[in-house]
Amino acid sequence: MTAKIIDGKVIAAELRARVADEVSRVKREHNLVPGLAVVLVGNDPASEVYVRSKHTQTQAAGMASFEHKLPADVSQADLLALVAKLNRDPAVHGILVQLPLPKGLNTEAVINAIDPAKDVDGLHPNNAGRLAGGFQALSPCTPLGSIILTKSVHASLEGMNAIVIGRSNLVGRPLVQLLLNENATVTIAHSRSRDLPGLVKRADLVYAAVGKPEMVRGDWLKPGATVIDIGINRIPKEDGKTRLVGDVAYQEALGVAGAITPVPGGVGQMTVACLLVNTLRAACAIAGLPKPA
Ligand code: NDP
Repeated sequence: MTAKIIDGKVIAAELRARVADEVSRVKREHNLVPGLAVVLVGNDPASEVYVRSKHTQTQAAGMASFEHKLPADVSQADLLALVAKLNRDPAVHGILVQLPLPKGLNTEAVINAIDPAKDVDGLHPNNAGRLAGGFQALSPCTPLGSIILTKSVHASLEGMNAIVIGRSNLVGRPLVQLLLNENATVTIAHSRSRDLPGLVKRADLVYAAVGKPEMVRGDWLKPGATVIDIGINRIPKEDGKTRLVGDVAYQEALGVAGAITPVPGGVGQMTVACLLVNTLRAACAIAGLPKPA
């Protein structure tokens, strides 16, 4: 048996096209141009690549994109002042502060300062709490993308056994909440969990969000399981260059899983597409329009 490969590139492109259609509809019918502001502090090369891709894809979807680059030694007060300005700006419906922030800046205070209605990263405690309570919320993009990829294979996740490996605020915890909202039965594993292979063996749905290259082995998996590999790890190659691998031993898993996301070309593709979804949703909610299709 060879697993079905879940093509994040294709699914993300379809999602971006749907967002672009909705954006042109709200422009036409309501004169609303959704706007996303991205704040980049410092010059971390990986963050610069992400921010560039967010900018290009936001514009391609017909939305307004505002980029704010601040030096790594910006003061906490100046960063908070920019967030406050963006909170007040009626052309901005989504605010994303690229993480991680340089040392010396208080990430929690910055996240807390973002207007929850514009918090398209879904990290503000209001949104995290609403999601945990099962209420309508802006949800973090990577977990949202992971659920969309799962639903490309399973129309309903009801009653399925899911395991989420990793409990970060950015990925693991919100993913657990989204799975509960889908009526899955969820196990949350982390660095202190005992017998991880045994826990994974019971799962119909496996989500790996650890940051450890190829940690989840093929023989841990239940035959036919759907595997969503969220990890992005850069490892050295023999020629001195590097390559990306996930948290799952992909070649091993291919022979056991029913469906699997590749790295790259899986979840990573969905994260920016879901950021566009969240920006459109935020813009409609702020303008008092119904939630877009
Ligand atoms: P964090 O480092 O914040 O969290 C890692 C989690 O993995 C922690 O909960 C930790 O447990 C757990 N963990 C560590 N070691 C083990 C172990 N041996 N067994 C079981 N659990 C373990 O990472 P993130 O959540 O931010 O990211 C996870 C991965 O996802 C990374 O590779 C990151 O690059 C990737 N990522 C991908 C994105 C995408 O767009 N595809 C977006 C964001 C992240 P504990 O809590 O006990 O310490």
